[in-house]
Amino acid sequence: MEVVKVENVTRVYRMGEVETHALRGVSLSIENSEFTALVGPSGSGKTTLLQLIGCLDQPSSGKVFINGKDVSKLNRSRRADTRRGTIGFIFQFFALIPTLTAYENIEMPLLLTGESANGRRERVRHLLEAVDLKDRANHRPDQLSGGEQQRVAIARALATQPALILADEPTANLDTPNGKQVMEIMTRLNQETGVTFVFATHDPRVIQFARRVITLRDGLVTDNNGKGK
Ligand code: ADP
Ligand code: MG
Repeated sequence: MEVVKVENVTRVYRMGEVETHALRGVSLSIENSEFTALVGPSGSGKTTLLQLIGCLDQPSSGKVFINGKDVSKLNRSRRADTRRGTIGFIFQFFALIPTLTAYENIEMPLLLTGESANGRRERVRHLLEAVDLKDRANHRPDQLSGGEQQRVAIARALATQPALILADEPTANLDTPNGKQVMEIMTRLNQETGVTFVFATHDPRVIQFARRVITLRDGLVTDNNGKGK
């Protein structure tokens, strides 16, 4: 089953008189449990595409399907409904809440689901273990290394057991060992839980973890079969 289907999507940004054609007709499908890299130079449209797949934005034309449902014309609040529980996000700058501990950051998305206090505690403990941060539960983001912060963000993205995780340059602010560890954890979670990962990157050390590589250039897919390992 396809988790993501993108059909002939364009996205034009308009700022006053200036039009930027960020995507110029992109089509692709992503199957359940894929571990796929979206690759291309800066400005090629990776973030724009992830935002459309993630229901954070609407295409100028074309269609985006998530789990078979057309989300391209949904209004803001319907898009938020689609995201909740279906899509998790990991960002380049971690985007954790600075005043909350690692535990509380991971628990945040669960507070919106009606999960019981016991259920939440069990889930957060399990996730802390899954990202090797059991002994950092009570640390705030400024008391954690970049790699640890990104691992908290991974656990938070997984909290509600979404089908799809979108990661935009998840290792861009990490040194090589921490970047490698983050990619290893994402790989393990993909294999153990079957959650689909799509990650944008232009780092060759990250691309080598991908099982499939989709290349973007100037808003177009130029290679959709490039195999990672
Ligand atoms: P990438 O993530 O591959 O670097 P982006 O999707 O961020 O590429 O950007 C694609 C193009 O769209 C670039 O030319 C960028 O300057 C432009 N762009 C991105 N976001 C906006 C925006 N909000 N408003 C105007 N132009 C934008
Ligand atoms: Mg980008």
